[in-house]
Amino acid sequence: MYSAQALAMLAELGISANELEARGLPEYSQAAILELAERGLDGREHFLGPAAAQAWRLMKEAARDDQVVLQMVSGFRSIERQKAIIERKLAKGQPLSQILAVSAPPCFSQHHTGQAVDIGTLGYPPLEVEFESTSAFAWLQRNAGQFGFSMPYAKNNRYDYSYEPWHWLHGEIAESI
Ligand SMILES: [Zn+2]
Repeated sequence: MYSAQALAMLAELGISANELEARGLPEYSQAAILELAERGLDGREHFLGPAAAQAWRLMKEAARDDQVVLQMVSGFRSIERQKAIIERKLAKGQPLSQILAVSAPPCFSQHHTGQAVDIGTLGYPPLEVEFESTSAFAWLQRNAGQFGFSMPYAKNNRYDYSYEPWHWLHGEIAESI
């Protein structure tokens, strides 16, 4: 059963909770404790929970030792921010079905937990499937598991999200449906 907060936001956005439930989309809770995990080249600050931040730093360093650059494109994202993202897409006239294939509704993004990172590397546009052909992705496939990271949105994932080779999750997270 989804939380009252989630149900209220879904109703406001015109998203059917029943459809999300049928799709098996789990709700995630928002991280209580965050720390600065990385400052991007553009000065943007990316936050993660303490365990994920520590694991990220170690993984990034190990990659660097192998001449591989891992950059954080995004880390923690609040429920309010996720709502604003969906609202902006709706305002542009994008159909909901198209929006929800690539964006999670507010309360349903793994980025709320402070354990998810979107990873990029030099010379490639962020958040594009071509990330899978980078040496960074090959390195992650070989090594990310040692640092507790996995790739939840593989091809044909159980959440019915598009393939996201850039999205990695640290540790286990509590999911409620
Ligand atoms: Zn992501």
